[in-house]
Amino acid sequence: MKANSRLIVVSNRAPSDGPPSGGLVVALQDCLKARGGLWVGTSGKFTDNPANRFTDVDGDGYQIKTFDLSPGEQQGYYLSYANGVLWPMCHRRADLIDITEGAYEAYIGVNRRLAKMLAQICTSHDQIWVHDYHFMPLASCLRAEGVTATLGYFHHIPFPTPQDLQALPQAEDFSGWLADFDLVGLQTEADVGTALELFRQQDRSEFLSNGNLLYRGREFMLRSFPIGIDTEGFQADACALDGRALANIPKDMRLIIGVDRLDYSKGLPNRLRAFGRYLSHRADDDARATFLQVAPPTREALQAYQDVRRECEHIAGTINGQHAELGWNPINYLHRAIPRTQLAALYRTAAVGMVTPFCDGMNLVAKEYVAAQDPDDPGVLILSRGAGAAEDLDAALIVNPYDISEMADAIAIALTMPLDERIARNAQLLRRVKDSDIQRWTTNFLTVLSQSKNQPLVPTPTFQARAATASVEE
Ligand code: UDP
Repeated sequence: MKANSRLIVVSNRAPSDGPPSGGLVVALQDCLKARGGLWVGTSGKFTDNPANRFTDVDGDGYQIKTFDLSPGEQQGYYLSYANGVLWPMCHRRADLIDITEGAYEAYIGVNRRLAKMLAQICTSHDQIWVHDYHFMPLASCLRAEGVTATLGYFHHIPFPTPQDLQALPQAEDFSGWLADFDLVGLQTEADVGTALELFRQQDRSEFLSNGNLLYRGREFMLRSFPIGIDTEGFQADACALDGRALANIPKDMRLIIGVDRLDYSKGLPNRLRAFGRYLSHRADDDARATFLQVAPPTREALQAYQDVRRECEHIAGTINGQHAELGWNPINYLHRAIPRTQLAALYRTAAVGMVTPFCDGMNLVAKEYVAAQDPDDPGVLILSRGAGAAEDLDAALIVNPYDISEMADAIAIALTMPLDERIARNAQLLRRVKDSDIQRWTTNFLTVLSQSKNQPLVPTPTFQARAATASVEE
Protein backbone atom coordinates (compact mmCIF):
# COMPACT_ATOMS: atom_id res chain seq x y z
CA MET A 1 0.00 0.00 0.00
CA LYS A 2 1.37 3.46 -0.84
CA ALA A 3 1.85 6.00 1.98
CA ASN A 4 -1.45 7.70 2.90
CA SER A 5 -3.15 5.71 0.20
CA ARG A 6 -6.91 5.82 0.55
CA LEU A 7 -9.08 3.17 -1.10
CA ILE A 8 -12.05 4.39 -3.13
CA VAL A 9 -14.38 1.64 -4.31
CA VAL A 10 -16.64 2.50 -7.24
CA SER A 11 -19.58 0.32 -8.21
CA ASN A 12 -22.87 0.94 -9.97
CA ARG A 13 -24.89 0.79 -6.73
CA ALA A 14 -23.48 2.03 -3.46
CA PRO A 15 -24.25 -0.28 -0.51
CA SER A 16 -27.63 0.52 0.97
CA ASP A 17 -29.06 0.26 4.50
CA GLY A 18 -29.61 -3.15 6.01
CA PRO A 19 -27.50 -6.27 6.06
CA PRO A 20 -24.94 -6.48 3.22
CA SER A 21 -26.31 -8.33 0.22
CA GLY A 22 -23.35 -10.61 -0.50
CA GLY A 23 -19.83 -11.80 0.14
CA LEU A 24 -18.30 -9.20 -2.17
CA VAL A 25 -19.95 -6.31 -0.34
CA VAL A 26 -18.86 -7.66 3.05
CA ALA A 27 -15.27 -8.19 1.86
CA LEU A 28 -15.00 -4.70 0.37
CA GLN A 29 -16.56 -3.15 3.46
CA ASP A 30 -14.00 -4.99 5.61
CA CYS A 31 -11.16 -3.53 3.51
CA LEU A 32 -12.63 -0.04 3.73
CA LYS A 33 -13.04 -0.30 7.50
CA ALA A 34 -9.51 -1.65 7.97
CA ARG A 35 -7.63 0.91 5.91
CA GLY A 36 -10.05 3.83 5.69
CA GLY A 37 -11.67 4.95 2.52
CA LEU A 38 -14.94 5.37 0.80
CA TRP A 39 -17.43 3.67 -1.49
CA VAL A 40 -18.96 5.59 -4.37
CA GLY A 41 -22.01 4.53 -6.39
CA THR A 42 -25.46 5.51 -7.58
CA SER A 43 -28.11 6.06 -4.92
CA GLY A 44 -30.90 4.12 -6.60
CA LYS A 45 -32.94 7.37 -6.68
CA PHE A 46 -33.90 9.07 -9.92
CA THR A 47 -34.21 12.84 -10.15
CA ASP A 48 -34.61 15.20 -13.09
CA ASN A 49 -31.38 17.21 -13.53
CA PRO A 50 -29.40 15.47 -10.75
CA ALA A 51 -26.79 17.61 -8.98
CA ASN A 52 -23.15 17.15 -9.95
CA ARG A 53 -22.10 16.43 -6.39
CA PHE A 54 -22.13 13.50 -4.05
CA THR A 55 -24.45 12.96 -1.11
CA ASP A 56 -22.74 11.64 2.01
CA VAL A 57 -24.29 8.55 3.56
CA ASP A 58 -23.18 6.95 6.82
CA GLY A 59 -21.39 3.67 6.24
CA ASP A 60 -20.61 1.31 9.10
CA GLY A 61 -17.03 2.40 9.85
CA TYR A 62 -16.33 3.89 6.39
CA GLN A 63 -17.73 6.64 4.16
CA ILE A 64 -20.28 6.24 1.36
CA LYS A 65 -20.88 8.87 -1.31
CA THR A 66 -23.81 8.48 -3.67
CA PHE A 67 -25.13 10.29 -6.70
CA ASP A 68 -28.56 10.23 -8.33
CA LEU A 69 -29.29 9.41 -11.97
CA SER A 70 -31.94 11.07 -14.10
CA PRO A 71 -34.63 8.72 -15.48
CA GLY A 72 -33.04 9.22 -18.94
CA GLU A 73 -29.60 8.23 -17.62
CA GLN A 74 -31.04 5.13 -15.98
CA GLN A 75 -32.60 4.15 -19.30
CA GLY A 76 -29.61 4.98 -21.51
CA TYR A 77 -26.58 4.30 -19.31
CA TYR A 78 -27.84 1.36 -17.26
CA LEU A 79 -30.54 -0.44 -19.24
CA SER A 80 -29.78 0.30 -22.89
CA TYR A 81 -26.00 0.47 -23.03
CA ALA A 82 -24.63 -1.45 -20.01
CA ASN A 83 -27.26 -4.18 -20.07
CA GLY A 84 -28.55 -3.99 -23.64
CA VAL A 85 -25.15 -3.72 -25.38
CA LEU A 86 -22.15 -4.54 -23.15
CA TRP A 87 -23.78 -7.46 -21.27
CA PRO A 88 -24.82 -9.45 -24.38
CA MET A 89 -21.54 -8.59 -26.11
CA CYS A 90 -19.52 -9.98 -23.20
CA HIS A 91 -21.76 -13.06 -22.85
CA ARG A 92 -21.24 -14.25 -26.47
CA ARG A 93 -24.73 -13.04 -27.46
CA ALA A 94 -23.89 -10.30 -29.93
CA ASP A 95 -27.15 -11.26 -31.69
CA LEU A 96 -29.07 -9.74 -28.74
CA ILE A 97 -27.27 -6.39 -28.84
CA ASP A 98 -29.82 -3.62 -29.20
CA ILE A 99 -28.16 -0.36 -30.22
CA THR A 100 -30.57 2.44 -29.32
CA GLU A 101 -30.14 6.11 -30.10
CA GLY A 102 -28.61 8.13 -27.29
CA ALA A 103 -27.65 5.09 -25.18
CA TYR A 104 -23.89 5.46 -25.59
CA GLU A 105 -24.13 9.22 -25.01
CA ALA A 106 -25.94 8.55 -21.72
CA TYR A 107 -23.37 5.89 -20.75
CA ILE A 108 -20.32 8.02 -21.45
CA GLY A 109 -22.14 11.02 -19.97
CA VAL A 110 -22.61 9.26 -16.60
CA ASN A 111 -18.97 8.14 -16.65
CA ARG A 112 -17.81 11.70 -17.35
CA ARG A 113 -20.07 13.17 -14.70
CA LEU A 114 -18.77 10.69 -12.14
CA ALA A 115 -15.16 11.38 -13.20
CA LYS A 116 -15.64 15.11 -12.66
CA MET A 117 -17.09 14.52 -9.19
CA LEU A 118 -14.32 12.08 -8.26
CA ALA A 119 -11.65 14.46 -9.55
CA GLN A 120 -12.86 17.00 -6.94
CA ILE A 121 -12.27 14.65 -4.03
CA CYS A 122 -9.35 12.36 -4.86
CA THR A 123 -5.60 12.83 -4.54
CA SER A 124 -2.65 11.29 -6.35
CA HIS A 125 -2.11 8.94 -3.36
CA ASP A 126 -5.54 7.33 -3.68
CA GLN A 127 -6.27 3.94 -5.14
CA ILE A 128 -9.57 3.84 -7.01
CA TRP A 129 -10.99 0.35 -7.51
CA VAL A 130 -13.70 0.36 -10.17
CA HIS A 131 -16.11 -2.57 -10.44
CA ASP A 132 -17.66 -3.86 -13.61
CA TYR A 133 -18.87 -2.96 -17.06
CA HIS A 134 -20.97 0.04 -16.03
CA PHE A 135 -17.74 2.02 -15.70
CA MET A 136 -15.38 0.68 -18.36
CA PRO A 137 -14.44 4.17 -19.67
CA LEU A 138 -14.10 5.68 -16.19
CA ALA A 139 -10.28 5.62 -16.20
CA SER A 140 -10.18 7.44 -19.55
CA CYS A 141 -12.63 10.01 -18.17
CA LEU A 142 -10.61 10.40 -14.96
CA ARG A 143 -7.32 10.76 -16.84
CA ALA A 144 -8.99 13.43 -19.02
CA GLU A 145 -9.78 15.27 -15.76
CA GLY A 146 -6.09 15.08 -14.80
CA VAL A 147 -6.55 12.45 -12.09
CA THR A 148 -3.22 10.83 -11.19
CA ALA A 149 -4.48 8.31 -8.63
CA THR A 150 -3.78 4.59 -9.12
CA LEU A 151 -6.72 3.08 -10.98
CA GLY A 152 -7.80 -0.57 -10.87
CA TYR A 153 -10.69 -2.20 -12.67
CA PHE A 154 -12.28 -5.59 -12.11
CA HIS A 155 -14.41 -7.00 -14.91
CA HIS A 156 -16.87 -9.34 -13.18
CA ILE A 157 -18.30 -10.72 -16.43
CA PRO A 158 -16.64 -12.63 -19.29
CA PHE A 159 -14.22 -10.76 -21.52
CA PRO A 160 -15.65 -10.33 -25.04
CA THR A 161 -14.10 -12.17 -27.96
CA PRO A 162 -12.46 -9.91 -30.56
CA GLN A 163 -15.25 -11.01 -32.99
CA ASP A 164 -18.07 -10.01 -30.62
CA LEU A 165 -16.32 -6.73 -29.91
CA GLN A 166 -16.76 -5.85 -33.57
CA ALA A 167 -20.50 -5.49 -32.86
CA LEU A 168 -19.75 -2.58 -30.53
CA PRO A 169 -19.97 0.81 -32.24
CA GLN A 170 -17.26 2.00 -29.82
CA ALA A 171 -14.97 -0.99 -30.53
CA GLU A 172 -12.11 1.36 -31.39
CA ASP A 173 -12.21 2.97 -27.94
CA PHE A 174 -12.51 -0.28 -26.00
CA SER A 175 -8.81 -1.13 -25.67
CA GLY A 176 -8.01 2.43 -24.60
CA TRP A 177 -10.69 2.24 -21.89
CA LEU A 178 -8.76 -0.67 -20.39
CA ALA A 179 -5.28 0.72 -20.93
CA ASP A 180 -6.11 3.90 -18.99
CA PHE A 181 -6.35 1.79 -15.83
CA ASP A 182 -3.14 0.67 -14.10
CA LEU A 183 -4.49 -2.80 -13.40
CA VAL A 184 -7.27 -4.69 -15.16
CA GLY A 185 -8.52 -7.80 -13.33
CA LEU A 186 -10.40 -10.57 -15.12
CA GLN A 187 -12.09 -13.67 -13.72
CA THR A 188 -10.17 -16.47 -15.45
CA GLU A 189 -7.00 -17.36 -17.30
CA ALA A 190 -9.20 -17.98 -20.34
CA ASP A 191 -10.44 -14.36 -20.11
CA VAL A 192 -6.86 -13.13 -19.91
CA GLY A 193 -6.08 -15.18 -23.03
CA THR A 194 -9.02 -13.58 -24.86
CA ALA A 195 -7.95 -10.10 -23.79
CA LEU A 196 -4.35 -10.69 -24.84
CA GLU A 197 -5.62 -11.87 -28.21
CA LEU A 198 -7.44 -8.56 -28.61
CA PHE A 199 -4.28 -6.59 -27.92
CA ARG A 200 -2.15 -8.92 -30.04
CA GLN A 201 -4.32 -8.01 -33.03
CA GLN A 202 -3.54 -4.32 -32.66
CA ASP A 203 -0.51 -2.56 -34.10
CA ARG A 204 -0.01 -0.20 -31.25
CA SER A 205 0.30 -2.74 -28.46
CA GLU A 206 3.46 -4.29 -27.16
CA PHE A 207 4.02 -7.13 -24.71
CA LEU A 208 6.72 -6.05 -22.24
CA SER A 209 9.31 -8.30 -20.63
CA ASN A 210 7.89 -7.52 -17.16
CA GLY A 211 4.58 -9.14 -18.23
CA ASN A 212 2.77 -5.81 -18.63
CA LEU A 213 1.16 -4.44 -21.77
CA LEU A 214 1.97 -1.22 -23.52
CA TYR A 215 -0.91 0.24 -25.50
CA ARG A 216 -0.55 3.57 -27.27
CA GLY A 217 2.12 4.70 -24.84
CA ARG A 218 0.43 3.51 -21.64
CA GLU A 219 1.73 0.57 -19.66
CA PHE A 220 -0.80 -1.42 -17.67
CA MET A 221 -1.24 -4.84 -16.09
CA LEU A 222 -3.75 -7.50 -17.06
CA ARG A 223 -4.22 -10.40 -14.59
CA SER A 224 -6.77 -12.98 -13.57
CA PHE A 225 -8.26 -12.87 -10.06
CA PRO A 226 -10.94 -15.58 -9.77
CA ILE A 227 -13.57 -14.23 -7.37
CA GLY A 228 -14.73 -16.39 -4.46
CA ILE A 229 -17.22 -16.55 -1.62
CA ASP A 230 -17.19 -16.22 2.15
CA THR A 231 -16.70 -19.97 2.49
CA GLU A 232 -16.87 -20.25 6.27
CA GLY A 233 -19.88 -17.94 6.50
CA PHE A 234 -21.67 -20.01 3.91
CA GLN A 235 -20.84 -23.27 5.67
CA ALA A 236 -22.28 -21.90 8.91
CA ASP A 237 -25.45 -20.64 7.17
CA ALA A 238 -25.97 -24.02 5.50
CA CYS A 239 -26.26 -25.77 8.88
CA ALA A 240 -28.52 -23.16 10.52
CA LEU A 241 -31.82 -24.17 8.90
CA ASP A 242 -33.45 -27.41 7.76
CA GLY A 243 -33.67 -27.17 3.96
CA ARG A 244 -35.94 -30.22 3.64
CA ALA A 245 -38.51 -28.65 5.95
CA LEU A 246 -38.16 -25.27 4.20
CA ALA A 247 -38.96 -26.70 0.78
CA ASN A 248 -41.41 -29.28 2.14
CA ILE A 249 -39.53 -32.18 0.55
CA PRO A 250 -40.56 -35.67 1.75
CA LYS A 251 -37.79 -37.89 3.16
CA ASP A 252 -37.75 -40.27 0.20
CA MET A 253 -37.60 -37.50 -2.41
CA ARG A 254 -34.26 -36.37 -3.89
CA LEU A 255 -33.79 -32.64 -4.53
CA ILE A 256 -32.03 -31.08 -7.52
CA ILE A 257 -31.44 -27.35 -7.22
CA GLY A 258 -30.74 -24.51 -9.67
CA VAL A 259 -30.35 -20.87 -8.56
CA ASP A 260 -29.94 -18.14 -11.15
CA ARG A 261 -31.21 -14.68 -11.97
CA LEU A 262 -33.57 -15.19 -14.91
CA ASP A 263 -30.94 -14.17 -17.45
CA TYR A 264 -30.57 -15.62 -20.95
CA SER A 265 -26.87 -16.30 -20.27
CA LYS A 266 -27.75 -18.81 -17.52
CA GLY A 267 -29.06 -21.50 -19.89
CA LEU A 268 -32.28 -22.16 -17.94
CA PRO A 269 -34.45 -23.42 -20.83
CA ASN A 270 -31.89 -26.09 -21.73
CA ARG A 271 -31.50 -27.10 -18.10
CA LEU A 272 -35.27 -27.55 -17.76
CA ARG A 273 -35.33 -29.53 -21.01
CA ALA A 274 -32.51 -31.73 -19.70
CA PHE A 275 -34.51 -32.48 -16.55
CA GLY A 276 -37.55 -33.23 -18.73
CA ARG A 277 -35.45 -35.65 -20.77
CA TYR A 278 -34.14 -37.29 -17.60
CA LEU A 279 -37.75 -37.78 -16.43
CA SER A 280 -38.76 -39.31 -19.76
CA HIS A 281 -35.91 -41.84 -19.55
CA ARG A 282 -36.01 -42.75 -15.86
CA ALA A 283 -37.23 -46.20 -14.83
CA ASP A 284 -40.50 -46.38 -12.90
CA ASP A 285 -38.77 -47.73 -9.79
CA ASP A 286 -36.02 -45.02 -9.75
CA ALA A 287 -36.25 -42.74 -6.69
CA ARG A 288 -38.20 -39.61 -7.53
CA ALA A 289 -36.41 -36.28 -7.74
CA THR A 290 -37.88 -32.79 -7.59
CA PHE A 291 -36.14 -30.01 -9.44
CA LEU A 292 -36.26 -26.71 -7.53
CA GLN A 293 -35.35 -23.79 -9.77
CA VAL A 294 -35.01 -20.43 -8.02
CA ALA A 295 -35.08 -17.79 -10.76
CA PRO A 296 -35.43 -14.23 -9.42
CA PRO A 297 -36.50 -11.56 -11.92
CA THR A 298 -33.88 -9.26 -13.38
CA ARG A 299 -33.81 -6.40 -15.97
CA GLU A 300 -37.42 -7.09 -16.89
CA ALA A 301 -37.68 -3.89 -18.95
CA LEU A 302 -35.54 -5.52 -21.66
CA GLN A 303 -37.21 -7.70 -24.31
CA ALA A 304 -34.62 -10.50 -24.18
CA TYR A 305 -35.42 -11.02 -20.48
CA GLN A 306 -39.17 -11.11 -21.10
CA ASP A 307 -38.55 -13.71 -23.82
CA VAL A 308 -36.49 -16.05 -21.65
CA ARG A 309 -39.06 -15.81 -18.85
CA ARG A 310 -41.86 -16.82 -21.20
CA GLU A 311 -39.77 -19.68 -22.56
CA CYS A 312 -38.93 -21.03 -19.08
CA GLU A 313 -42.54 -20.83 -17.90
CA HIS A 314 -43.70 -22.65 -21.02
CA ILE A 315 -41.13 -25.45 -20.67
CA ALA A 316 -41.70 -25.89 -16.91
CA GLY A 317 -45.49 -25.99 -17.44
CA THR A 318 -45.20 -28.53 -20.25
CA ILE A 319 -42.86 -30.83 -18.30
CA ASN A 320 -45.01 -30.67 -15.16
CA GLY A 321 -48.13 -31.33 -17.26
CA GLN A 322 -46.47 -34.39 -18.77
CA HIS A 323 -44.85 -35.92 -15.67
CA ALA A 324 -46.70 -34.70 -12.55
CA GLU A 325 -48.47 -37.21 -10.36
CA LEU A 326 -50.95 -36.69 -7.55
CA GLY A 327 -48.93 -34.98 -4.79
CA TRP A 328 -45.78 -34.49 -6.91
CA ASN A 329 -44.88 -31.70 -9.29
CA PRO A 330 -41.43 -32.57 -10.68
CA ILE A 331 -40.47 -28.92 -11.26
CA ASN A 332 -40.86 -26.33 -8.52
CA TYR A 333 -40.16 -23.08 -10.36
CA LEU A 334 -39.89 -19.92 -8.22
CA HIS A 335 -39.76 -16.60 -10.01
CA ARG A 336 -38.55 -14.73 -6.94
CA ALA A 337 -35.46 -14.27 -4.79
CA ILE A 338 -34.76 -16.39 -1.72
CA PRO A 339 -32.69 -15.02 1.20
CA ARG A 340 -29.14 -16.28 1.25
CA THR A 341 -29.51 -18.15 4.57
CA GLN A 342 -32.41 -20.18 3.14
CA LEU A 343 -30.50 -20.82 -0.07
CA ALA A 344 -27.56 -22.20 1.88
CA ALA A 345 -29.81 -24.72 3.67
CA LEU A 346 -31.50 -25.71 0.39
CA TYR A 347 -28.10 -26.31 -1.25
CA ARG A 348 -27.13 -28.63 1.60
CA THR A 349 -30.36 -30.60 1.21
CA ALA A 350 -29.99 -30.95 -2.56
CA ALA A 351 -28.45 -34.18 -3.88
CA VAL A 352 -27.55 -32.33 -7.08
CA GLY A 353 -26.67 -28.70 -7.81
CA MET A 354 -27.13 -27.73 -11.45
CA VAL A 355 -25.14 -24.75 -12.68
CA THR A 356 -25.32 -24.76 -16.46
CA PRO A 357 -24.87 -21.25 -17.91
CA PHE A 358 -23.92 -20.87 -21.55
CA CYS A 359 -21.46 -18.22 -20.49
CA ASP A 360 -20.75 -16.78 -17.03
CA GLY A 361 -17.93 -14.68 -15.59
CA MET A 362 -17.47 -16.95 -12.55
CA ASN A 363 -20.79 -18.15 -11.07
CA LEU A 364 -20.81 -17.94 -7.31
CA VAL A 365 -23.73 -20.32 -6.94
CA ALA A 366 -21.40 -23.17 -7.99
CA LYS A 367 -18.97 -22.29 -5.18
CA GLU A 368 -21.78 -21.78 -2.66
CA TYR A 369 -23.26 -25.20 -3.48
CA VAL A 370 -19.89 -26.86 -2.85
CA ALA A 371 -19.31 -25.00 0.43
CA ALA A 372 -22.79 -25.85 1.74
CA GLN A 373 -22.43 -29.65 1.43
CA ASP A 374 -22.16 -32.08 4.31
CA PRO A 375 -18.59 -33.44 3.77
CA ASP A 376 -19.70 -36.90 4.96
CA ASP A 377 -22.65 -37.13 2.57
CA PRO A 378 -22.21 -34.44 -0.09
CA GLY A 379 -24.29 -33.74 -3.16
CA VAL A 380 -22.93 -33.60 -6.71
CA LEU A 381 -22.24 -30.42 -8.66
CA ILE A 382 -23.11 -30.46 -12.38
CA LEU A 383 -21.21 -27.54 -13.87
CA SER A 384 -21.20 -26.03 -17.33
CA ARG A 385 -17.87 -25.60 -19.06
CA GLY A 386 -19.17 -22.11 -19.95
CA ALA A 387 -18.92 -20.95 -16.32
CA GLY A 388 -15.67 -19.30 -15.24
CA ALA A 389 -15.87 -21.51 -12.13
CA ALA A 390 -15.20 -24.59 -14.30
CA GLU A 391 -11.56 -23.51 -14.68
CA ASP A 392 -10.95 -24.39 -11.02
CA LEU A 393 -13.85 -26.70 -10.19
CA ASP A 394 -12.93 -29.48 -12.57
CA ALA A 395 -13.88 -32.17 -10.05
CA ALA A 396 -17.54 -31.35 -10.78
CA LEU A 397 -19.45 -33.23 -13.50
CA ILE A 398 -18.53 -30.87 -16.33
CA VAL A 399 -21.18 -30.60 -19.05
CA ASN A 400 -21.80 -28.84 -22.33
CA PRO A 401 -24.81 -26.52 -21.70
CA TYR A 402 -25.91 -26.85 -25.33
CA ASP A 403 -26.09 -30.67 -25.13
CA ILE A 404 -29.41 -31.54 -23.51
CA SER A 405 -28.94 -35.31 -23.57
CA GLU A 406 -25.48 -35.03 -21.99
CA MET A 407 -26.98 -32.93 -19.18
CA ALA A 408 -29.85 -35.44 -18.75
CA ASP A 409 -27.27 -38.25 -18.46
CA ALA A 410 -25.31 -36.17 -15.94
CA ILE A 411 -28.43 -35.90 -13.76
CA ALA A 412 -28.79 -39.70 -13.77
CA ILE A 413 -25.07 -40.16 -12.99
CA ALA A 414 -25.20 -37.59 -10.17
CA LEU A 415 -28.28 -39.14 -8.56
CA THR A 416 -26.67 -42.58 -8.45
CA MET A 417 -23.05 -41.63 -7.72
CA PRO A 418 -21.51 -43.82 -4.97
CA LEU A 419 -20.81 -42.14 -1.62
CA ASP A 420 -17.01 -42.51 -1.77
CA GLU A 421 -16.86 -40.78 -5.17
CA ARG A 422 -19.13 -37.97 -3.96
CA ILE A 423 -16.92 -37.46 -0.89
CA ALA A 424 -13.71 -37.42 -2.95
CA ARG A 425 -15.07 -34.98 -5.52
CA ASN A 426 -16.54 -32.64 -2.91
CA ALA A 427 -13.31 -32.59 -0.87
CA GLN A 428 -11.34 -31.59 -3.96
CA LEU A 429 -13.89 -28.95 -4.93
CA LEU A 430 -13.99 -27.52 -1.42
CA ARG A 431 -10.20 -27.14 -1.37
CA ARG A 432 -10.43 -25.07 -4.56
CA VAL A 433 -13.29 -22.96 -3.20
CA LYS A 434 -11.34 -22.24 0.00
CA ASP A 435 -8.18 -21.40 -1.95
CA SER A 436 -9.88 -18.53 -3.77
CA ASP A 437 -12.20 -17.20 -1.10
CA ILE A 438 -13.39 -13.62 -1.14
CA GLN A 439 -11.01 -12.26 1.51
CA ARG A 440 -8.04 -13.61 -0.41
CA TRP A 441 -9.45 -12.17 -3.64
CA THR A 442 -9.65 -8.59 -2.30
CA THR A 443 -6.20 -8.86 -0.72
CA ASN A 444 -4.66 -10.22 -3.94
CA PHE A 445 -6.19 -7.53 -6.14
CA LEU A 446 -5.20 -4.68 -3.84
CA THR A 447 -1.68 -6.04 -3.38
CA VAL A 448 -1.10 -6.16 -7.14
CA LEU A 449 -2.74 -2.74 -7.55
CA SER A 450 -0.30 -1.30 -4.98
CA GLN A 451 2.60 -2.67 -7.01
CA SER A 452 1.31 -1.26 -10.28
CA LYS A 453 3.50 1.36 -11.81
CA ASN A 454 2.01 4.81 -12.14
CA GLN A 455 2.11 5.74 -15.79
CA PRO A 456 2.37 9.06 -17.66
CA LEU A 457 -1.16 10.15 -16.92
CA VAL A 458 -2.62 11.08 -20.24
CA PRO A 459 -5.65 9.35 -21.70
CA THR A 460 -5.03 7.18 -24.76
CA PRO A 461 -4.98 9.38 -27.90
CA THR A 462 -8.14 7.93 -29.50
CA PHE A 463 -10.18 8.64 -26.42
CA GLN A 464 -8.77 12.16 -26.12
CA ALA A 465 -9.77 12.95 -29.71
CA ARG A 466 -13.27 11.55 -29.21
CA ALA A 467 -13.64 13.32 -25.86
CA ALA A 468 -12.89 16.61 -27.57
CA THR A 469 -15.69 16.09 -30.12
CA ALA A 470 -18.12 14.74 -27.59
CA SER A 471 -17.67 17.55 -25.06
CA VAL A 472 -20.14 19.62 -27.13
CA GLU A 473 -22.90 17.27 -25.97
CA GLU A 474 -22.37 17.85 -22.22
N1 UDP B 1 -28.83 -15.19 -4.82
C1 UDP B 1 -29.61 -14.93 -3.70
N2 UDP B 1 -30.95 -15.21 -3.75
C2 UDP B 1 -31.54 -15.70 -4.87
C3 UDP B 1 -30.76 -15.97 -6.00
C4 UDP B 1 -29.38 -15.69 -5.94
O1 UDP B 1 -29.09 -14.48 -2.66
O2 UDP B 1 -32.76 -15.92 -4.86
C5 UDP B 1 -27.38 -14.92 -4.75
C6 UDP B 1 -26.56 -16.20 -4.83
O3 UDP B 1 -26.46 -16.79 -3.57
C7 UDP B 1 -25.25 -15.69 -5.39
C8 UDP B 1 -25.64 -14.48 -6.24
O4 UDP B 1 -26.98 -14.16 -5.88
O5 UDP B 1 -24.40 -15.23 -4.35
C9 UDP B 1 -25.57 -14.78 -7.72
O6 UDP B 1 -24.22 -14.74 -8.11
P1 UDP B 1 -23.71 -15.49 -9.41
O7 UDP B 1 -22.26 -15.23 -9.54
O8 UDP B 1 -24.06 -16.95 -9.35
O9 UDP B 1 -24.53 -14.86 -10.61
P2 UDP B 1 -24.86 -13.34 -11.03
O10 UDP B 1 -26.27 -13.09 -10.58
O11 UDP B 1 -23.85 -12.46 -10.35
O12 UDP B 1 -24.78 -13.34 -12.54
